[in-house]
Amino acid sequence: MDALRIENLTTAFNTEKGIIKAIDGISLNLRKGTILGIAGESGAGKSVLANTIMGLVKPSEGKVLLDGIDILSLSEDEMRAIRGKRIAMIGQDPSSALNPFLRISTEFFDVMTIHEKMKKTEALEKARKLLHSAGLPEPERILRMYPHQLSGGMKQRVMIAIALSMGADILIADEPTASLDATTERQILNLLVSLKEKRSILLITHSLDVLESIADETAVIYSGTIVEKGTTEQILKTPKHPYTKGLIDAIPRPGSLPIPIAGSCKREDSGCAFSGRCPLRMEICSQHKPKNRKLRDGREIACHLFQEERDG
Ligand code: SF4
Repeated sequence: MDALRIENLTTAFNTEKGIIKAIDGISLNLRKGTILGIAGESGAGKSVLANTIMGLVKPSEGKVLLDGIDILSLSEDEMRAIRGKRIAMIGQDPSSALNPFLRISTEFFDVMTIHEKMKKTEALEKARKLLHSAGLPEPERILRMYPHQLSGGMKQRVMIAIALSMGADILIADEPTASLDATTERQILNLLVSLKEKRSILLITHSLDVLESIADETAVIYSGTIVEKGTTEQILKTPKHPYTKGLIDAIPRPGSLPIPIAGSCKREDSGCAFSGRCPLRMEICSQHKPKNRKLRDGREIACHLFQEERDG
């Protein structure tokens, strides 16, 4: 069952170079109680996708369906009610998300007493429980602290607790461990896995290692389009799309040198967006955009090398 369904989502920006589609026709479904990873290089459109789903950026076309309702067609007031109560987002830098002049308790009060109209005592009790379930054993002490008194990992746990304080059942985590050391990263990833019991998570990251450890499914995004999607095991163990293979070959591993993908993330004007960097490109690749196909093993792929194989 889907918690969230994204259909043909396109977000374009007017730039000096003309209209640029930051995301282009993205369709995805986030299943209930699972983690769907979105992987890709910087500039691939991952954060624009997150902000479009949250209604913070206006799409040019497409739908985001929550319980069958296209939330992008709602008014700003209606969307404000969805944000936090149904869908919450955490970013990569908890330091900039928390106000340095406010105690952590005030951050919670702002969300729960203003948006939820909760009494202060009630909000305080709920904040204590949320901090505790986010893995902070002394919530009372944390609530009295200012952000600079917390480590990066503690701040990210606080951000997750605040994000969930209005009861959201869908969490969008945009590079949630990018600013953390390896040990703290592992702890935050474990926390996200523990949230799966009651929530569904869209996890945006450039790190395939992060996805390997916690994502049930993975979609690979290149220059605003999804090029391959399947179970995380399929994508990481038996990648088929040349870009996915390139991403995996670029990971440093013991005993072998990483092979970076030549060039930078850039969309070609016509045909396959990856054709300028693809070692397997054919004549058709620069002429026609490949359609999304479902292969026999269930994965979806957009590449001319796989246009003949159908679901069977
Ligand atoms: Fe490479 Fe062509 Fe496939 Fe694009 S469509 S990834 S250029 S083979």
